[in-house]
Parts: sequence; structure tokens; C-alpha cells
Amino acid sequence: EEMHPLDIAKVIDEVVFLLNAQIKKKDIIIDWQPPISDVYVLGDKSQLKQVMINLIKNGIEASDNADRIEVFLQTNEAYVFIKVKDYGCGIPQEYLNKIGESFFTTKKKGTGLGLMVSHKIINNHKGKIAIESEENKGTTFTIQLPIYKLDS
Ligand code: ADP
Ligand code: MG
Repeated sequence: EEMHPLDIAKVIDEVVFLLNAQIKKKDIIIDWQPPISDVYVLGDKSQLKQVMINLIKNGIEASDNADRIEVFLQTNEAYVFIKVKDYGCGIPQEYLNKIGESFFTTKKKGTGLGLMVSHKIINNHKGKIAIESEENKGTTFTIQLPIYKLDS
């Protein structure tokens, strides 16, 4: 595992670019708001890309055609909060605590691996993943990661 200081906005730029075909196919509007000033985390770039791919893909799969998916960052002194918000089908309350457990999926061709792997990766980065969701309204995933201070 290779940990390097990463500009988190660049990681997200690359993921949005990678998913462009899938986004276009469903006419999804990705509203990606890069931060005004750079935010760095100490991380494994390909692993963090994988997490962002998993979350945005889930958002696309949960959305109807032409829905919006918002990706934006919030920060405090110590942490960056990466938000992926969709307006799709949402997650029924009774499933919420099963999400990210071994092989939980509600999809015909799903594996339930995406969030399991994402949780592992974020744990290895000393972070957390939180889910807020309401059926038929949408879902917000929040990844919390420690900010890496470049000049410290
Ligand atoms: P998979 O996508 O293969 O089913 P994941 O681990 O990525 O596996 O997701 C597990 C389950 O969590 C999904 O099957 C779905 O029920 C639920 N889920 C995850 N993200 C979302 C989302 N953005 N909106 C609605 N349901 C979601
Ligand atoms: Mg998935």
C-alpha cells in the first residue's frame, strides 16, 4: 500500500472523467464542486479512486435518467468530508445497517462488494464512511478523511 500526499480534487476529477460514459448514457448531471483551495490527504491514490468510483457508480445506478448527483467537499481544521449525494431510490431504513456488510446487495447483478471494499479502504486511511438515506428521496454518502497539512 502506497501512501502519498494527494490533492483530493484531482482524485475526484479523474474519477468523474473515468465514469463519463456511464454518466452520459443515463443523462446524469454530475454537479462536482471542487474546493476553492487545495485539500490534501495522505492516501493510496488507486484505492481512493476505487472508493469514489464505487460511491458514484452506486449513485448512478440508484438514479433515474437525467437526475443530478452532487459531489462536494466540506472541511474543518482536521478533516475533509467528501459528499456524494444522489436523488435516487434511496435505501429502506431496515437495510441501512446492513449496508457494507458482507455481500449485501439488492441488485439483480450486484455483488455487495463495493461498499465492503470501500469501508476497508477508508478504515485503512483512518477515516469513516457515513450514510444518510431516505426511500424515494435519495442518499448521501460522506467519507471523512484526515487532512494532510503539506507544510507541517
Ligand atoms: P452492489 O452495488 O454490487 O449491490 P454495493 O456494496 O456497492 O454493492 O452496494 C450495496 C447495496 O447498497 C446496493 O445493492 C444497494 O441496495 C445499496 N446502495 C448503495 N448505494 C446506494 C445508493 N446511492 N442509493 C441506493 N441504494 C444504495
Ligand atoms: Mg455498487
